[in-house]
Amino acid sequence: MAEALPNRTWEAALGVLQLEVPKAEYLAWFQGARLVEASDGEFVVGVPTVFAKEIVDRRYRDVVTRAASKASGRDVAVTIVVSPAATPVTAPALADPAPRASAPSPSVGLHPRLTFERFVVGTSNRLAHAAALRVCEAPGHAYNPLFIYSGVGLGKTHLLHAIGHAIVARDPDARVLYVPCETFTNDLLHSIRTEDRGARARRFRERYRSVDVLLIDDVEFLSRTETSQEEVFHTFNALYSQGRQIVLSSDQPPSEIPRLFARLRSRFESGLVADLQAPDLDLRRAILETIAASEGAQLPSDVADFLAHRVRRNMRELEGALRRTLIYAELSGLPLTPDTAARALDGLGAASHPRPIAARHVLDRTAAHFSVTLDDLTGSRRDAPTAYARQVAMYLLRNDSSLSLPEIGRTLGGRDHTTALHGCRKIERLIQLDDRLKNHIETIRAQLADIA
Ligand code: ADP
Ligand code: MG
Repeated sequence: MAEALPNRTWEAALGVLQLEVPKAEYLAWFQGARLVEASDGEFVVGVPTVFAKEIVDRRYRDVVTRAASKASGRDVAVTIVVSPAATPVTAPALADPAPRASAPSPSVGLHPRLTFERFVVGTSNRLAHAAALRVCEAPGHAYNPLFIYSGVGLGKTHLLHAIGHAIVARDPDARVLYVPCETFTNDLLHSIRTEDRGARARRFRERYRSVDVLLIDDVEFLSRTETSQEEVFHTFNALYSQGRQIVLSSDQPPSEIPRLFARLRSRFESGLVADLQAPDLDLRRAILETIAASEGAQLPSDVADFLAHRVRRNMRELEGALRRTLIYAELSGLPLTPDTAARALDGLGAASHPRPIAARHVLDRTAAHFSVTLDDLTGSRRDAPTAYARQVAMYLLRNDSSLSLPEIGRTLGGRDHTTALHGCRKIERLIQLDDRLKNHIETIRAQLADIA
């Protein structure tokens, strides 16, 4: 096992990677990666599945090597291995052909870093934090289910993991399972589609219904399939009737999740629904200081101020900005000042810190790329190619321009903000699965960069 120093270097390398690889890809392939071993000039990086290993080897080995070398300050070689323990974020997929006869190991899928100790409390999140703590004191009794919702990067996943850790700390035998809703759904579909489906379906049920605490992240994903809603409903009832704790997260409150069965909604609402709001300046500053301290860095208060003003909406971006600044200062030998931070962030590529791009250019380029007219893009046509182009435009406007969701809706012909949000989400998800879509978006971005 690696000692502390290589681990910090690996964290730094992840920071670099996070800035170099588009976000969706980073989440898909590196969130579950960890340093398995580090020796003289070599990093062995574990990823959870054979599939992930193939992808990372084929597509990202160079960029990982560069990131690791940059973070170490010298050339290092990187080897990717399959390491089943490297599953901090997603539960091991059932696609794994190895039979899993025994009951699930006591706790699955918890990321060691995401604990209550590392969760900084402020005005915007203290309600959800307090509810989460209560759940740990009396699992199955205090609030069941606990339903946490917020926009991205505000700490939902962190709280779910923290609950898992705290329950296991109190009761080492507690069987805790963390699972992103998407993994749950994929497992389910897989268990239905394969040939020995009786056995697989049984294993699926055993897996999800034999736990003491089930943490399902991002349940908004359920709006996509009725089959998984049905299964979540039964899983919920099975656990609930035995007094097992259920914690759910989503980007919307239950009442706003599109196409959610009424009976699921009422169950989701039957415990406590708590939200996390955007962090205020104080909390952003406190988080920066906590992260810096955990990295062993001294963060001058003017630099904390600068970063806290610069990144307002999302803790993940805040962390990325801090990591980038620390690495930049270290590698360049410059003192840690607001000016150095500004330089570190200004060096970012278009993908991570874009200069806002005019909406008009986004519409023009997107329409041209997909061979639809501007009128169609902003008009009422609903055929698949036009709708697809429109959703890509929504995604680009959301990520690369400074428009808000309601503005995006208006720009695209007077649609409302939920339509815009839905479009952005859909593209975010598809990007992870579809290389062609990724290429479309990169091509349009390259053209936009030429204009800007
Ligand atoms: P969400 O699931 O809501 O999108 P995450 O839980 O993934 O957000 O949080 C994004 C990042 O910000 C994570 O690295 C998380 O550890 C960090 N983070 C979020 N909220 C806090 C907090 N209150 N204190 C410390 N770190 C936080
Ligand atoms: Mg999350």
